[in-house]
Amino acid sequence: MKGFTQGEPQVQFKLVLVGDGDTGKTTFMKRHLTGEFEKRYVVHPLMFQTNRWPIMFNVWDTAGHGKFGGLGDCYYIEAQCAIIMFDVTSRVTYKNVLNWHRDLVRVCENILIVLCGNKMDIKYRKVKAKSIVRHRSKNFQYHNISAKSNYSFVKPFLWLPRKLIGDSNVVMDPALAAQYEHD
Ligand code: GDP
Ligand code: MG
Repeated sequence: MKGFTQGEPQVQFKLVLVGDGDTGKTTFMKRHLTGEFEKRYVVHPLMFQTNRWPIMFNVWDTAGHGKFGGLGDCYYIEAQCAIIMFDVTSRVTYKNVLNWHRDLVRVCENILIVLCGNKMDIKYRKVKAKSIVRHRSKNFQYHNISAKSNYSFVKPFLWLPRKLIGDSNVVMDPALAAQYEHD
């Protein structure tokens, strides 16, 4: 832990989780036991120790199903970053990434986006790696994950602090990152 920060976070970011229903958004967040329950949304404070300051992501997830079209502007407002999730075994959830992206940038023009293809643990993958091109723009990144098996669980949170703070030397406490991967 030497060299890595402790204590209260000095920077906080709002991160919104979007994507079709059943793509695994809530499963992804259930890895974290804390969460403030609001009427329609759940906000999970998620803290990471880094070599700069502790960083807090307030991760917003929709309570209930969150089918496409159901989210109001207040869900998105003042979000600095987002995870758009799709299910690699369901082509339609990947097709709808465009809709989620459009909704996000309509409210948050310069939002940073991590696209996550979830359910990598399932053998019959439908959305092939080479067809995933939607992240090929400057404010987009892509990761294969499995919320169920913890595969690459922490990856989406590694790139965001660097971009948000504008410092490419920010690294996360490796012990903590490893703990998230193997819990
Ligand atoms: P949400 O509607 O996007 O919040 O999706 P949920 O988190 O409720 O997950 C929908 C279903 O997908 C549940 O039955 C989960 O157990 C399942 N699921 C979520 N993530 C994974 C994953 O990585 N792999 C597999 N095999 N199933 C998953
Ligand atoms: Mg959910």
